[in-house]
Parts: sequence; C-alpha cells; structure tokens
Amino acid sequence: MTDAFDDLLDANTGWQEGFALADLTGRPTKHLAVVACMDTRIDPLGALGLAPGDAKIIRNAGARITDDVIRSIAIVVANLGVDRVAVIVHTDCAMSKLSAEVLRERVAAVAGDVGDWDPLAVDDQAAALRADLDRLRQSPLLPGDLVLGGFVYDVTTGALRPID
Ligand SMILES: [Zn+2]
Repeated sequence: MTDAFDDLLDANTGWQEGFALADLTGRPTKHLAVVACMDTRIDPLGALGLAPGDAKIIRNAGARITDDVIRSIAIVVANLGVDRVAVIVHTDCAMSKLSAEVLRERVAAVAGDVGDWDPLAVDDQAAALRADLDRLRQSPLLPGDLVLGGFVYDVTTGALRPID
C-alpha cells in the first residue's frame, strides 16, 4: 500500500490516545443537519458553535443540493431525529467563480473526456441557494415541516449571514 497517508495514520495514533468520543451516538443532539461547501477555509463546527455529536455535516463542492445530499438528509430525518437543515454557501467559492465550461475543461484535462458532465457550477449564488432550498422543500423524500435555512459564510470575517 502507498505511504501517501502515513501522516494521517501517525496523527491517528495520537488521536486514539486521547479519544473521548466513545460515548457519542449517531443521533445529532441539536437535531441538525448542515450542508456546507467543502472549502478548506470553513470549519463548520467552530463557525456554528457545535461539537462532535451535535450535527450531521454533509459537504460537497458549492454546498449543492444533489440527489445524494437529499438521500443523506432523508435518512437522518427519518432515523436520527433531524428536524432542521442549514445550507451554507460562502464568499469566494470556486463553484461561483469558475464556469461549468471551465470546470469541465479542467477535469477533462486530468481525467480525459467528461462528455456533458455537469459540475453544478453557480452563476448567481443567492438564486442557486434559493433553488436548492426549494429542492429540499419539494422533495418527496422529506417531510413538509422540515425547517430549512440558507446562509452565506464570509471567509474573510467568519460571519454567517442568513439569506431572505
Ligand atoms: Zn466553496
């Protein structure tokens, strides 16, 4: 096996020594699921005052509501007591700065032909966030009383702003 992950395995050895999360369950204590962009500048737990065990965190490029995000939310709502979902996009997001065409070209440059693959780039961030919240609101897999919130996180100040 490759040694590309040795740094992680070494770090995990230390993690095990002080391991203190054994008593947590998979049930989020704040009844919360968060969908956030995978951007490395965002610390969802820190930014929201959360600790491990408090929330289900789902991350992808652009915090887009995809079929798989809906799959995950449907499962935690039905099984683990989640009754609210916060969708968090952010300033300076590559998914808003790069067009679908550019993203397709860049992936094709390293992976080969990607056909008409849709990277889910975002032209208008607020409009895309509202459309994604609508997708959740209208999903047949989710209950009508699921509480939904959309937010923009500022990567320069750490501020979280709700969208209207
Ligand atoms: Zn992003």
